[in-house]
Amino acid sequence: SRSEISYFGAGPAALPTSVLETASAAILNHENSGVGLIEQSHRSANSINIITSACEHLRNLLNIPEGYSVLWMQGGGTTQFAAVVYNLVGHWVQTQLDANNGDLEAVKKALGSARADYLVTGSWSKKAAEEAARITGGAGKLTRVAVNAKAATGKFGAIPPESQWELTPAENSIFSYYCDNETVDGVEFPAFPAALEGRLVACDMSSNILSRRVDVSKYAILYAGAQKNVGGAGVTLVVVKDEVLKKQASEEALRALGLPVPPIMLYYPTLTGAGSLYNTLPIFDVFICREVMAGLLARGGLEVQEKVAAQKAALLYGALGRAGGFYKVVPEKSVRSRMNICFRIEAGEEVEKAFLEGAEAKGLTGLKGHRSVGGLRISNYNSVLVEAAEKLAAWIEEFAKERK
Ligand code: PMP
Repeated sequence: SRSEISYFGAGPAALPTSVLETASAAILNHENSGVGLIEQSHRSANSINIITSACEHLRNLLNIPEGYSVLWMQGGGTTQFAAVVYNLVGHWVQTQLDANNGDLEAVKKALGSARADYLVTGSWSKKAAEEAARITGGAGKLTRVAVNAKAATGKFGAIPPESQWELTPAENSIFSYYCDNETVDGVEFPAFPAALEGRLVACDMSSNILSRRVDVSKYAILYAGAQKNVGGAGVTLVVVKDEVLKKQASEEALRALGLPVPPIMLYYPTLTGAGSLYNTLPIFDVFICREVMAGLLARGGLEVQEKVAAQKAALLYGALGRAGGFYKVVPEKSVRSRMNICFRIEAGEEVEKAFLEGAEAKGLTGLKGHRSVGGLRISNYNSVLVEAAEKLAAWIEEFAKERK
């Protein structure tokens, strides 16, 4: 049964049982309306109330300042790889037009040396950089990889010092992009990168959102697919600076410059203008997010979550470290993720298999590494209880003792 299992899956990930109980009831009969939440119109008062309160909870948790909008979108984190580009390129073009009294030729010239910088520190930022290049005419045209953290071995696991980053000069920078926590590789930025201070920054926080406090004012766009720390798969939350929404090039200007016109569903102003309801939003998915966030607020918000996440991560890395080299944590210590703990067993894949089997027998599940990198991965999201982390830490130590 559910109570016997501690699930450490990377996404979709564990959700609080109480939220799933509330959601189960809402599927059948939402707030005694006699109609299930999945059946209700996305434009009903009920639905609008769910979206509004989900936005409010997110604002409270992240302490979102004035001048930012919250959006609920579909298409997962992956769709944002493209959305970010369309919206920030459109914004850059309009900013340039404003500075050049609408002179398209001047903007065309500026475009020659303008680039968006990608910090590639793992599999997801690599995919984002590839998508950005794909929709802007190929690598090097409008986008570039300013940091490539992939080691000669073909693995990620480090973030080079900022002095080695090859950022585009600020005056030519369209935007900078990074992924705060690399889910597959277990690499997390310890803090906001100082080198990006004052630049237009877009950030993928899909796998560590709501696990620590964030200074939203440093970002032009931050986004997160819900299915790790916020809810189920189906919605993506986007926090975007109003300045970016307000200042957007016209389709004519983009065409004249040979730049792509954003698909309507990826153009943030369409969605903010419609309160996230330009088309049919899966309200049930927003409802789950709202319930998860209400629970976080009731437990003291992100200050508390940050402490709990650090406590659980210390417990697990501690157990791995105490086994004296039996386990090898993949990333370097300074960039180890609090959310996705990626490790190998030095003795080989057969022993890793035995580790997984033994864990399953104890009700510790979802520990297999991503198919692209193999190995083992503990996902330590908000819904993973301290007791579950303790149980897993005990198994890590027991298995090492048994096998050494
Ligand atoms: N970014 C990160 C950091 C992720 O972990 C994932 C999914 N695991 C994605 C983007 C892609 O998300 P989706 O599957 O929702 O498109």
